[in-house]
Amino acid sequence: MRTRLLLLLTLISAFSFGQTNFKVQVPNGMNLLMGNYNPADYTQNSPITAPSAILTGIQNGVQADSLFQILLKLESFENRNTGSDTLSATTGIGAARNWIESKFQDYSARNENRLQTGFFQFDINVCNMTRHKNVMAILPGTDTSNKSFIIIEGHFDSRCETACDVLCDAPGMEDNASGTALVMELARVMSQYSFPQTIVFMPTTGEEQGLYGALSFAIFAQQNNLQIEAVLNNDVIGGIICGNTASPPGCPFPDHIDSTQTRLYSHGGFNSVSKMLARFIKMEYEDEVLPNAAVPMNLSIMSAEDRTGRGGDHIPFRFRGYPAMRFTSANEHGDAGVTDPNYHDRQHTTADILGVDTDGDNQIDSFYVDFNYLSRNAVINGTAAAVLALGPEQPSFTAAPVPNGIQVQVTDPNNYGTYRLVVRTNSPDYDTLIIFQGTQATIDPGVGGAMFVSLAAVDGNQLESLPNEEISLLSVGIEEESDGPSMPTLLQNRPNPFDDATIIGFNAPERYTGKGAIIRITDVNGKVLSEIPKAVESGINEILYQHGFGVEGVFFYTLIINEEVIDTKKMVFAY
Ligand SMILES: [Zn+2]
Repeated sequence: MRTRLLLLLTLISAFSFGQTNFKVQVPNGMNLLMGNYNPADYTQNSPITAPSAILTGIQNGVQADSLFQILLKLESFENRNTGSDTLSATTGIGAARNWIESKFQDYSARNENRLQTGFFQFDINVCNMTRHKNVMAILPGTDTSNKSFIIIEGHFDSRCETACDVLCDAPGMEDNASGTALVMELARVMSQYSFPQTIVFMPTTGEEQGLYGALSFAIFAQQNNLQIEAVLNNDVIGGIICGNTASPPGCPFPDHIDSTQTRLYSHGGFNSVSKMLARFIKMEYEDEVLPNAAVPMNLSIMSAEDRTGRGGDHIPFRFRGYPAMRFTSANEHGDAGVTDPNYHDRQHTTADILGVDTDGDNQIDSFYVDFNYLSRNAVINGTAAAVLALGPEQPSFTAAPVPNGIQVQVTDPNNYGTYRLVVRTNSPDYDTLIIFQGTQATIDPGVGGAMFVSLAAVDGNQLESLPNEEISLLSVGIEEESDGPSMPTLLQNRPNPFDDATIIGFNAPERYTGKGAIIRITDVNGKVLSEIPKAVESGINEILYQHGFGVEGVFFYTLIINEEVIDTKKMVFAY
């Protein structure tokens, strides 16, 4: 009985967020995070101020060889399990985090000691270890009137087949030395520049057992009203070889190579701030990097928050209202299904190594992490974070359909004067970007039917803000009808066809608020595959439907409210 009680208590503590004793162990760290400091104390001598020069500097500054050297060193710690040794100077998670922090200090010393480095400490029992530390480097912004900051993060802990095996060889190169190296390389490069907004580089711990490092900082941020504008989480971001069991939606076949695609995962559909962040990252890549990119990258805005059945460090931030997303390579070597006797992939095993020596000279010459791919992903992160930190603040706006387009009205205390309308129809991606001047405009969106629009401010340097939350023109249009709509309307799923997950929406009039709706999924024979409940809200309602990977064909979805069938539509699975 006692054992069971203990197990129960352990489970309760895991789910009731029993973290305590949060401590920012960075000089003046708490004030930096709150925006309560004198920027003059962190000012750079003769900083480069032209945003275009800073963005070019980031693109040229990120070095594949520098990433390689970081990975080599991270591999040498043998085991970075959250419960592993903290006393050794050479192996275990303690040595690893101290080395990462010492590298942050080096970067700082090379740039007038502006980067403030240290740890974020918290207490909770994970793998019999009670005290844990994320590593932190804070680059203080030059303008404290905007107190929000940007986080670039990736977990540095690793694991083998057994979650708390602290003695195995757990190199964790793809998962997630790749993300750790990316965060460190951006700290090195970006700390050579000055940004109005503060940027926080944070390798996290405890991810493999329950996102503990990210969760602790997210709770701490919420408790202290810290303003986080965006969280860019990098997890499994350097591999390009498809395993036999890549997490769905996965890659097409084993050993398939893909070094030009990256998946951007984020929560929600219509009006999700996290999905707006993912779209913004893609826009900035296409605006600022792609025109001069030696190897063009294709960024996929994924419907779901993560791969099927998986999760990551962005989730605890999103859960507390902070915009947060995850970068993951298109091809993953495994789905972490290590308990399956037939699992032969590398993820979450002792085989997650940097590469192999094929000619017997004791030097790795065939790599599982592609350093050029990893450096391209670092540039994508760095560019988005830099534009956020350099660019204008968000305006607010209203939009309504008129006979010749969309009537847009902007409210902008900063009077930037130039704005960008982001138009989206039937996919998680945006369809059209339209620039206009002035705070009032009638705009032809170039597409018809139901659409979602959002708005970004554009400043004198042609940088744009994070776009605002979306407005659904369908609901605006219906609300403007004289008597209001009489019935809910089922919308076409987006995207369609789709491979793994799709968003099914319906528009409901005010008087349906609070009623119980069901989305029923059926196959061509009428067999019910799933029923998803949803409490009706006025306007656009959405559910995410994940059918699992590898099914093809035509299926149907039906909207039922209070046992009354409203409508049925067809959707197509493809992969
Ligand atoms: Zn991971």
